[in-house]
Amino acid sequence: MAFGNVKNVTGVVTINWNWCKGCGFCVGFCPTKALTLSTEYNAKGYHPPYAKSPEKCHYCMYCQMICPEFSIFVTRNDETEDETKKGVTPK
Ligand code: SF4
Ligand code: SF4
Repeated sequence: MAFGNVKNVTGVVTINWNWCKGCGFCVGFCPTKALTLSTEYNAKGYHPPYAKSPEKCHYCMYCQMICPEFSIFVTRNDETEDETKKGVTPK
């Protein structure tokens, strides 16, 4: 099966540092291991995550869905938008 010029989609992770309670769910559920908990503390005394390997984020949004504090969200990296969305028909 051919996919034309379809590129891998990546995401950009944003974390609201001070809403996080350091539960680690996002780190544990990330299928590509893009996240890890920081050794630094936030204002509540927890260790929030950060994108240690941001290039590994594939915009699956598991971390956003699993976070009980709504403190992490992911946006699609527009530079990796696939060519089919621009009207190019895969061959
Ligand atoms: S969107 Fe998916 S791949 Fe990206 S950091 Fe979240 S869980 Fe990991
Ligand atoms: S799931 Fe949410 S509250 Fe838990 S560590 Fe990740 S960002 Fe923080």
